Amino acid sequence: MTTSPIVTYRGVEKSFGDLAVLRGVDLDIYPGEKVAVIGPSGSGKTTIARLLMTLEEPTAGTIEVDGEPLWQERRGGQTVRASEKHLHRLRSSIGMVFQHFNLFPHMTILRNCMEAPVHVLGLSKAEAKARAIRMLEKVGLADKVDAYPAQLSGGQKQRVAIARALVMKPKIMLFDEPTSALDPELVGEVLSVIAEIAAEGEMAMLLITHEMAFARDVADRVVFFDEGRIVEEGPPERIFDAPESERLRTFLQRFR
Ligand code: ADP
Repeated sequence: MTTSPIVTYRGVEKSFGDLAVLRGVDLDIYPGEKVAVIGPSGSGKTTIARLLMTLEEPTAGTIEVDGEPLWQERRGGQTVRASEKHLHRLRSSIGMVFQHFNLFPHMTILRNCMEAPVHVLGLSKAEAKARAIRMLEKVGLADKVDAYPAQLSGGQKQRVAIARALVMKPKIMLFDEPTSALDPELVGEVLSVIAEIAAEGEMAMLLITHEMAFARDVADRVVFFDEGRIVEEGPPERIFDAPESERLRTFLQRFR
């Protein structure tokens, strides 16, 4: 039996005015698969994630989540978003961790992690609290439940953001350069939490990252973006040790 992808991009294009940011992207992500997205700044990596979060609208192409259209290209080239009813469900199967943590500053860490399960999933407060505490334990912050975001380091805040996404039990988690806004000494703690979650295996992950060693360790597949296209993809060993294209070789040299 073949497994169906959890996310499918087909012929996805995105332009901002005259600027073509994505120029025809085809990408499948399978349940439980960890896909690292690498590439130069401005190559369209964040846009890939933002389309999946419906924060941006594709100019052309189709994106499906769990076999259901999220963005669908109709005849005549118009791209249409899923209905509100579907969108609600599709969105709750996707978790996202951004560069900046976007925690609610006036809420404790625990409350930050309880908001969405109560208001979006309709869990009781007791259920949401139990789930939130479990996830905060997982990211090593059980002792911070009553703290406010301002009392935490950047690395701790990002770990809260990860716990907050995990409480929704998404089928796929998107990480958009989750460590690029952190002081260098805080990067490791966040990457190791992500690696631990990845090792549990159940959830698919799309990891946009400049941390090549991390991508090599965690990813099942690495996708190299350049100028709005996937130039190369493959298992980490192949991509990092035997890049085929000149563009990927040049890109990787920066990290040597
Ligand atoms: P990456 O994540 O690979 O750095 P992005 O997907 O963030 O690339 O951006 C790709 C290009 O799209 C960049 O040149 C960026 O300036 C441009 N871009 C992104 N969002 C917008 C926007 N809302 N309006 C105009 N240009 C944008």
